[in-house]
Amino acid sequence: MVILFDGRAVMCCQDMAREVIWGDVARDGIVKVWNGKVRRETIRRLYTGQTCKQDFLCARCEQALGPGAMVQSLLQSAWRKLKKHPPQTRAATY
Ligand code: SF4
Repeated sequence: MVILFDGRAVMCCQDMAREVIWGDVARDGIVKVWNGKVRRETIRRLYTGQTCKQDFLCARCEQALGPGAMVQSLLQSAWRKLKKHPPQTRAATY
């Protein structure tokens, strides 16, 4: 949770556009925002592995989907497929 200059609390420091606002700390206090339904529901979805909308902040985040993370994900996927369906080896015929 990141508290902005005006008291609004957003989910993450990557939320430059203030897309996921959890509440207003200046108006409601930090405990109420922290225990609020919006924050709890967001955390519940993230930690239970539920899919989110394609345009959800984390689904577009460069911190999560940077080049290194993308390559690692592709390699892990290819490795899983290879283990599940190993290539057939045949003797070369000439
Ligand atoms: S994935 Fe990106 S937007 Fe989502 S919590 Fe992590 S750093 Fe923030």
